Amino acid sequence: MNTTTRSTRHRVVVLGAGYAGMSAATGLAKRLHPDTARVHLVNARDHFVQRPRLHQVATGQHIRERSLAEPFGRAPVNLTVGWIHEIDLDNRRVDIATTGGTTSLQYDTLVYALGTSIDTTTVPGIEEYAHTLDPADAARIAGKLADLDRGTVIVCGGGLTGIEAATEFAERYPQLTVRLVSRGRPGGWLSDRARAHVEAAFDRLGVEVLADREITAVEDGVVRLGDGSGIPFDLCLWAGGFRVSPLAADAGLAVDERGRALVDQTLRSVSHPEVYVIGDAAAARGPWGDAIAYGCRTGGFLGLYAPGAVMAALTGRDPKAFGFRYIHQCISLGRRDAVIQFVHQNDESPRRRILTGRAAVWYKDIVLNSGTWVFRRPGPILPWRKTKVPTTPGRPVTHV
Ligand SMILES: Cc1cc2nc3c(=O)[nH]c(=O)nc-3n(C[C@H](O)[C@H](O)[C@H](O)COP(=O)(O)OP(=O)(O)OC[C@H]3O[C@@H](n4cnc5c(N)ncnc54)[C@H](O)[C@@H]3O)c2cc1C
Repeated sequence: MNTTTRSTRHRVVVLGAGYAGMSAATGLAKRLHPDTARVHLVNARDHFVQRPRLHQVATGQHIRERSLAEPFGRAPVNLTVGWIHEIDLDNRRVDIATTGGTTSLQYDTLVYALGTSIDTTTVPGIEEYAHTLDPADAARIAGKLADLDRGTVIVCGGGLTGIEAATEFAERYPQLTVRLVSRGRPGGWLSDRARAHVEAAFDRLGVEVLADREITAVEDGVVRLGDGSGIPFDLCLWAGGFRVSPLAADAGLAVDERGRALVDQTLRSVSHPEVYVIGDAAAARGPWGDAIAYGCRTGGFLGLYAPGAVMAALTGRDPKAFGFRYIHQCISLGRRDAVIQFVHQNDESPRRRILTGRAAVWYKDIVLNSGTWVFRRPGPILPWRKTKVPTTPGRPVTHV
């Protein structure tokens, strides 16, 4: 049944409840006076997914799921769980498929934080024959690995995700053969010391590395290489990079060649100033000029910045441009080892300084936990200062 209500309050809709969206929704709800504005969060799932821990989920480890309703506490946020399938920028409307049917939400300000997923379009056969570290698939991998007495697991991709997954699999299931197939040298971007530590971990855990191999297809039980040879597998994990949601480009937001929304120094879309884009979905440029790399550290940081920019725009103040510095890359090597590569603040190139072993495991845990701590206990970080903003009379909110 169609119902239509009217709202004079300013409607802020936040799309996506990853690191970026959660930080933004919490910050906005804490700052906006509920008499003059309301915050609505939309997400595909009713709980927060810690993507950097999905390789742990894939090896059967219990990672506590946090309900999206739980973190906000006293911060009033309305939640809709469903799949966003269209954004109508002209009419400022978002269409969402929910278990109860399609719902449409009108907005005055949109915060777009739909993040990334593993890119399964790189070579043929990934969707059919390989797994990925997406939330639903991670649980399926855990089930399959638990049933494998022996056999071969192939991890495709020698980037951060591939290294973490291969070492986690090998440590957890020593009876399996784990092969890491990579276009270049796994961890090739790291400093010599960090790469040597990663390679020592591969040796210790028995991960077989096949470097400088171009994968051309994933077939039924076989990874096909550029020279025509095939590597058989019992389970294949594709970890060959991320892609952004196509929704931003489909809606008509200005995007870069990867589909990331182009934003100014206050994270406003350059084509639609009522839309803010944060996290992996944004081609946000650091002060040095290049777009900031994907990462939960980026998402959480941009998510914390965005509420201030939105509040400034709504109250007629000049927002501060956002600042950003890289600090480190944290790479787990199973549960008992890790390497922290400290990086130069502007271009993320490696410094000589690294941290390894238990201290690095502990360091990475603190970094990951602090990412969620911000929106679970925002009190000390974000002020409870409710600001009244101009209302927008006469615009309808329609539920279809
Ligand atoms: C295995 C793995 C390990 C990683 N390790 C690290 C690491 O160590 N350090 C690091 O910095 N980064 C790491 N990353 C990357 C990091 O997780 C992402 O960069 C980060 O999650 C991006 O945050 P975000 O908020 O921008 O987007 P996301 O976390 O992707 O959140 C987007 C949200 O939007 C929702 N969504 C998307 N599309 C729709 C739709 N159409 N309708 C409804 N909801 C939708 C999603 O369900 C999700 O909740 C890792 C990623 C993976 C997969």
